Amino acid sequence: MSSAQPDIQHIADALQEILPREFISTNRFERIANALHPFPFDIEEQQVPYAVVMPSNAQEVSGILKYANKEKIPVFVRGSGTQLAGSSRPHTHGIVLNVHRMNQLEIHEDYGFLECGPGCVVAKLDNILAARGYFFPFHPGSRLIANMGGVVTNNTSGHIVDASVGKPNDYVMGVQAVLPNGDIIETGTKGMRRPAGTDLTKFFAGGDGLLGVITSIRIRLLPAFKRAHGFAMFRDLKSLARGVQRVYREKRPVPLLMEFMENAAAKIGFEIKGLPEPQGSAIFFVSVGATEEEASGRLKLVLSSFKAENPLEAYEVTDMGDWEKLWGAREVIGSFLMQKTGHQWKAAEIVCNLKDLVEGIEEVKNFNKGRPLIDDLPLYLYGHIGALTMHPGILIPSDWDSEKQKKANAELFKREAELNLKYGGCGGEWGQFSMRKDFFVRRYGEAGYALMRTIKQAVDPNNILNPGILEGYR
Ligand SMILES: Cc1cc2nc3c(=O)[nH]c(=O)nc-3n(C[C@H](O)[C@H](O)[C@H](O)COP(=O)(O)OP(=O)(O)OC[C@H]3O[C@@H](n4cnc5c(N)ncnc54)[C@H](O)[C@@H]3O)c2cc1C
Repeated sequence: MSSAQPDIQHIADALQEILPREFISTNRFERIANALHPFPFDIEEQQVPYAVVMPSNAQEVSGILKYANKEKIPVFVRGSGTQLAGSSRPHTHGIVLNVHRMNQLEIHEDYGFLECGPGCVVAKLDNILAARGYFFPFHPGSRLIANMGGVVTNNTSGHIVDASVGKPNDYVMGVQAVLPNGDIIETGTKGMRRPAGTDLTKFFAGGDGLLGVITSIRIRLLPAFKRAHGFAMFRDLKSLARGVQRVYREKRPVPLLMEFMENAAAKIGFEIKGLPEPQGSAIFFVSVGATEEEASGRLKLVLSSFKAENPLEAYEVTDMGDWEKLWGAREVIGSFLMQKTGHQWKAAEIVCNLKDLVEGIEEVKNFNKGRPLIDDLPLYLYGHIGALTMHPGILIPSDWDSEKQKKANAELFKREAELNLKYGGCGGEWGQFSMRKDFFVRRYGEAGYALMRTIKQAVDPNNILNPGILEGYR
């Protein structure tokens, strides 16, 4: 690295013309910390950035991108670095643009929207809005740290069931974004109706961070619902899957949240929360309504579909203390598993079609069987079953060397691609490229991928912004 030091100094000096020196870091530890992400293996030397910049507004972002374009230095945008398909780790040396200082928040109740910076933390925003009587339609498992820029860029669904209130970005009315050449643009509307036809918002919100840096997000305010909570336990996964199929086929009001844990995963979550050992696979769900009676009535309809599949138990949870324990057992299962075993948690994301859910869930349960490297690793299955999303997770031994961990990770994404191709789904969370680039090409064809490359080339001819994501993780 020492041979690169003069370049680093040169870059820091130039950046100082754009933003205050205290918000430019060339400290090696900070540079490494800003390149880490949830993959188990080590960061490589060529991924360590030259500098980390922490701009406070769109003008500074614009200055940074103009400079990077002139010097042809890659810029990697960073929220909290929790994206799970490999997009948060720089693929090469460059400048990391950390958005955490752009955490402005204005709630315009008279207009019916809020405007926030990309650096706002999801859970903090959620709490502020809940206190004012609003529901915040962004609910990833990572929300205690994930930033709004990251979740909007990925259109992160998390626990929310698409068929209930839509994807999170259905509530994004527009953004302010800085293009790779430094131009600042605004998209969307301040009115209550989203634009018809071409809406530039879509290039950024749900755009994989390829075409611009989001510096402000306008989100529609959504009145909070009343909620009812339900739980069911099924002897086997097939009955659980049939229960979910029934909810859709019997035209029940689809719950806002509907999560599941296969028995092995449920055992760990329940033990940590001091709950009795589960005898089967668990499903947790939340129905909503304008009144508590309406929410409870909707929940009972869902329960009636589950009961037709002979569950071990299925009931409305009315004690919120009990509910917190049950939901808590599910919510941070990945972290529990890492705490318990000391190994590295890595999950895939399979989204099945409704018709084949019973066969699909059984196959996902055997996700790693017969696969090189990962065959013998313990597998735990959970997910957002309301959206037919399953996360088979493996524990990658922490004493494996980086190269072996990397190969195991690649095998996991290969298997994910196969199953998503077979069952007609795609990654509904975590973005579409990086580790999923090969899947994208197989799923949407060379022409679909060429379209993406053409758009990227037109907007970012020097490939300055987040290079490597579209090309695929190396
Ligand atoms: C424990 C855990 C649980 C999780 N649970 C879920 C879950 O339930 N559902 C789910 O979908 N995901 C989940 N994730 C994945 C992750 O939290 C989400 O993908 C989240 O959206 C990433 O936010 P972030 O701030 O960490 O973004 P980062 O990882 O920092 O960035 C993600 C991508 O967006 C780009 N980006 C970030 N900000 C901007 C911006 N302002 N402008 C342009 N591009 C930008 C980055 O360059 C990068 O390519 C989880 C992750 C962890 C570690």
